[in-house]
Amino acid sequence: MDLGLDGKVALITGGSKGIGEAITRTFLAEGAHVANVNRSTTEGEALAAEYAAKGQRCKFIQGDLTRMEDCQRAVQTTLDEFGQIDTLVNNAGVNDGVSLTDGPQAFLESLQRNLVHYYAMVHYALDALKSSSGAIINISSKVAATGQGGTSGYAASKGGINGMTREWALDLAADNIRVNTVVPAETWTPLYAALIDQSSDPTAARRQIEDLIPLGKRFTTAQEIADMVVFLSSQRSLHTTGQIHYVDGGYTHLDRKYTSGSNRIDLSK
Ligand code: NAP
Repeated sequence: MDLGLDGKVALITGGSKGIGEAITRTFLAEGAHVANVNRSTTEGEALAAEYAAKGQRCKFIQGDLTRMEDCQRAVQTTLDEFGQIDTLVNNAGVNDGVSLTDGPQAFLESLQRNLVHYYAMVHYALDALKSSSGAIINISSKVAATGQGGTSGYAASKGGINGMTREWALDLAADNIRVNTVVPAETWTPLYAALIDQSSDPTAARRQIEDLIPLGKRFTTAQEIADMVVFLSSQRSLHTTGQIHYVDGGYTHLDRKYTSGSNRIDLSK
């Protein structure tokens, strides 16, 4: 399938690590140019150098997305570099565990880390996206649907992202801008691996989570999230908008009494 992304420009937040890195690499594999915004520099600069050596453009933009001026500068730098934005991928976020007991100021700061920059990036990129009849892809989380406990700021942010997806799809349909969200649940990334490694028995901890994932009893790969993001950005997805796509092996919605471990009900008996 030719996705028609050759020469297109994707602006990706948090495109240096984890799911974002897979998204960056997948756009580049399809011949697109990438602008990648991150706070940290090492991985983003390494990606830029790796692809420059292959004759491809993966512009690294250092910035902290909790600062609105950095969001605006990221959009402007992308336009200065490439002259257009065809896809905006709002991906950067952190499950920061800001809970009911942490108070309103901590809650607001969590929204700054996880929600406000999604809005700001779209706001600043709007004219460019109108010119390109572009696409917006947001990365949300299953936590918006399931809750997690102890993470009010993150849950509110991801719920907000899902809500804004519908809102923007309506807002922007007349401009032929499509807006979709991709929802990971349990996706294997270096950060996730590091968290599991902190448990007393990492192998058992991993198996315990995998047992809850109906399809294949395994984590989703970052590549599987990236493939959906890149498809939704493409010309092969021109009539899909306002949708919330769960790429999670059935984790969020399938009935656990038929799928999980020792509690599994076997209807064949
Ligand atoms: P990750 O490995 O921590 O990567 C996040 C990236 O975003 C990093 O490159 C980080 O870089 C960047 N970033 C974060 N905050 C930033 C800020 N304020 N300004 C600039 N860059 C920032 O996380 P991930 O697991 O790939 O998660 C990516 C997205 O998927 C997030 O929205 C997350 O909520 C969602 N998600 C992931 C899972 C999962 O299982 N992995 C599940 C549900 C949802 P620096 O910190 O170096 O700047």
